[in-house]
Amino acid sequence: MPVDSDGERVSGVVFDVPRRRVTAGRWSVRAAWIRRSRPAENIDSALVAVRSGVHLLITVDNDRAETPWVELWANEPDASDGLAVVRQGDDLVGIAHIPMCGCGDRGCGNAGLQLATDVRASDLPNLVDLLRALPNVPGPPSRDATWRGDFNEGEPAI
Ligand SMILES: [Zn+2]
Repeated sequence: MPVDSDGERVSGVVFDVPRRRVTAGRWSVRAAWIRRSRPAENIDSALVAVRSGVHLLITVDNDRAETPWVELWANEPDASDGLAVVRQGDDLVGIAHIPMCGCGDRGCGNAGLQLATDVRASDLPNLVDLLRALPNVPGPPSRDATWRGDFNEGEPAI
């Protein structure tokens, strides 16, 4: 089970619908919205405004709350551009828009570029802090200069 920096056990991501907050251990952030699926599907999602023009979609399959799926979008998922985290050498340097693919399928352009990955719930606070601090950089991003969202002991693995 993941443990946060205070040594507290983090059992996973929790969506607090009445307070409209996403929590993981002692960490908590306000959500723009939270959507619960029908019980049979058992999948919930929340959109967090990291900063203006940068939104993190957090999706939890309730059987796997310790490893939420995250996707980075400019605004609303699927209706706005996907975003990539751009690295340069050993540094993360910014966030770039991914243009719509010529075929008209947004997922096609995002594939392999958009920040879209499983993260440990205990790494979610670090991910949001990191994304908040990154400036916008010109796109389109190149495939071999995007960060895949990996963490190693709380630090981004680049
Ligand atoms: Zn395409």
